[in-house]
Amino acid sequence: MYKYIFGPVPSRRLGISLGIDIVPLKTCSLNCVYCECGPTNNLTTERKEYIPFEDIIEEIRHYFNNNPEPEYITFSGSGELSLNIKIGEIIDFLKSNFPKIPVAVLSNGTLFNDKTVRESLLKADLVIPSLDAATEETFLRIDRPSKQVNLQDYIDGLVQFRKEFKNKLWLEVFILPNYNDNMKDILALKEAIQRIKPDLIQLNSLDRPGCIDGLEVASEEILNKIIELWGFPNVEIISKSKKREGIKSYRKDLEEHILGTIARRPSPVENIAEITGYHLSELMKYIRTLEEQGKISSVNLNNQVFYKIS
Ligand code: SF4
Repeated sequence: MYKYIFGPVPSRRLGISLGIDIVPLKTCSLNCVYCECGPTNNLTTERKEYIPFEDIIEEIRHYFNNNPEPEYITFSGSGELSLNIKIGEIIDFLKSNFPKIPVAVLSNGTLFNDKTVRESLLKADLVIPSLDAATEETFLRIDRPSKQVNLQDYIDGLVQFRKEFKNKLWLEVFILPNYNDNMKDILALKEAIQRIKPDLIQLNSLDRPGCIDGLEVASEEILNKIIELWGFPNVEIISKSKKREGIKSYRKDLEEHILGTIARRPSPVENIAEITGYHLSELMKYIRTLEEQGKISSVNLNNQVFYKIS
């Protein structure tokens, strides 16, 4: 069982992709209210080698020596991956050894005002940073950042990265009703997006409970209204989880392992990951499918989401 790589998993955005996670669970510069991985337990902007570089490389080598090549390699996980100071070296290793496989990086983008962070990502084929708010009040409310994160520096960092990065840049914007779907926030976001100039804007919305109670799902109507107000030609709505059972890499054994675990006791996803040994990001994809099928459901207790058999 690998510790830092997972899948390949059917990703909503990139098809079948091998995941790489290079920071410990919920080590992040933000503590977003909608985070599907639970509350951030290490809220930080400190960059360091959170996981030894050699351990990650060893896993990658082992994977490629024993498995067919994936279609995509995606840095994604349960925290902010650019906090790992070795991210650039890991991308370099992948591009030198597996040059034909595109590399994507999912990031919250808060550290892009740091030149060394921007430089470390230049060899990626696709970078997907996020931006949920361009007004101070809403930024603090929705993303609950570390004190070291300044909103204007954050946006300026995204603008600067766009100027330096020659490959694809998609910007993800998470829409949360009663947080950032009002006119003031939508117009402030529009202004920031005009400065950033991403190749694509992806509107995302809740499809499962976040960290706190009472969050609402943005309807198609709200999302389409925002697209109309912005007037950008390059916006897409991230579709809700696709039917994964039909996908080649869908693993029935993993599904049964999850069902068996929560049948014994309703559990938060972190505990299911610990018990089953599967990676959190991989688990979440199966949990969404099981929820859609009505086989499991979730309850929010003391700001923690528990899964149980329906
Ligand atoms: S940036 Fe991502 S990992 Fe960090 S709290 Fe927000 S949603 Fe979770």
